[in-house]
Amino acid sequence: MSSERILIHAPFGRDGSLLSQVLLKEHLTVEVCSRFEDMCETVAHGVGALLVGDEALGSPQVVRLGEQLQKQPAWSDLSVIVMTSGGKADTASQRRLKLLEELQGPVTLLERPLRTATLLSAVHSALRSRRRQYQLRDLLQREQESAKALKAANKALQRSNDSLAEFAYAAGHDLQEPLRTLTAYTQLLNRRFGGQIDSTAAEYFRFISEGSSRMKKLIDDLLEYARVTDKSTHVQQQADCNSAIESARDNLAASVSEAGATIDWESLPPIAVDLTQLTQLFQNVIGNAIKYRSPEGAPRVQITAVRRGDYWQFNVSDNGIGFEQQYAEQIFGVFKRLQQRTSASGTGIGLALCRRIVEHYGGRIWAVSQPGVGSTFSFLLPGLKSSTNQEIEQGARTRNADEGELRSDALQPGVVLQ
Ligand code: ADP
Repeated sequence: MSSERILIHAPFGRDGSLLSQVLLKEHLTVEVCSRFEDMCETVAHGVGALLVGDEALGSPQVVRLGEQLQKQPAWSDLSVIVMTSGGKADTASQRRLKLLEELQGPVTLLERPLRTATLLSAVHSALRSRRRQYQLRDLLQREQESAKALKAANKALQRSNDSLAEFAYAAGHDLQEPLRTLTAYTQLLNRRFGGQIDSTAAEYFRFISEGSSRMKKLIDDLLEYARVTDKSTHVQQQADCNSAIESARDNLAASVSEAGATIDWESLPPIAVDLTQLTQLFQNVIGNAIKYRSPEGAPRVQITAVRRGDYWQFNVSDNGIGFEQQYAEQIFGVFKRLQQRTSASGTGIGLALCRRIVEHYGGRIWAVSQPGVGSTFSFLLPGLKSSTNQEIEQGARTRNADEGELRSDALQPGVVLQ
């Protein structure tokens, strides 16, 4: 292995061949370079250690070696073992040694006459350190490769998400036209011939009409879902959660009053998301809490928030019918519903939309539920960066959604997850 080889440059006398013999006996890999330049050039191709006689190191050679060593990558720190003239050193040799000290990197000086044991110990220690450097290099390489692979995977995922959204948008858009034609002609047919058909045919007409209304709702929701990452919808990246919940509650006013629902929340912080999307998010989750209510009592929705580093964790808890925890992941999928045949209307896109909104801001959404007890939907959204970020008041005041009045009883903390 090139990383194990020892380059020897000792041009005078028989030093080169003697050293090489000693090292070969130890089963080490040795290469004798008769020219200094050859040694310097070979360094670039992978070397374990350099063994040099100091008589070969004039000032220009020391400078050249220094340049070569400076070219090493960050993980590399090649050892240079220099055999010196020891006690008999003349002034030229001392000057060389002084220069050598300036070489950046590990330089070991071995005084002549050399003892085999000293030589071998210096060479083995240099090789041991070199092996560790190569291990570090491999580790760094692997890390770089994984980082590269991760980046490529993220890019591919982003591309696939974008094209999926584009596809959903284009498909939704193109499906609208034939659906409009279908609906218009069904209505026309019914108007013209409604009086002449029997009850079975009338029922078929009703099925067609219900089917096309449902399909229209599905397409509208799909288009809404596809639009989430449309950058133009995020002009303003600051939203007050209290106004988002108030708007969501107003949009749900009919079902809130029909079900006699109460929606309580603490004073919530402003966060760094688009207000329309935040309203959509709360509206879907609160709307579900009302839609999937228990037959036993009026729906109660409680919303709390707790700071998690740069993010806020929101918990929306209800006392509804709940669901088995095993479905907690599945319900966030597009068109995924647990009660396909119940009277609760829906297309199964609401939570998928919520996930898309939350993930668009680098957050996460999840649910914890128990059948017959209720559910808690939690999500993380980014807080404001500036000091204008308000901390939630301790001993939160709660507001009764129906009466719009302030009460002083503190909320039960929502289920705090993970
Ligand atoms: P939709 O309500 O249109 O069916 P969603 O994506 O909003 O679609 O919800 C997916 C499914 O998750 C619902 O069909 C329902 O089965 C379940 N679900 C959502 N929210 C709740 C909740 N608060 N309580 C019980 N089940 C829920």
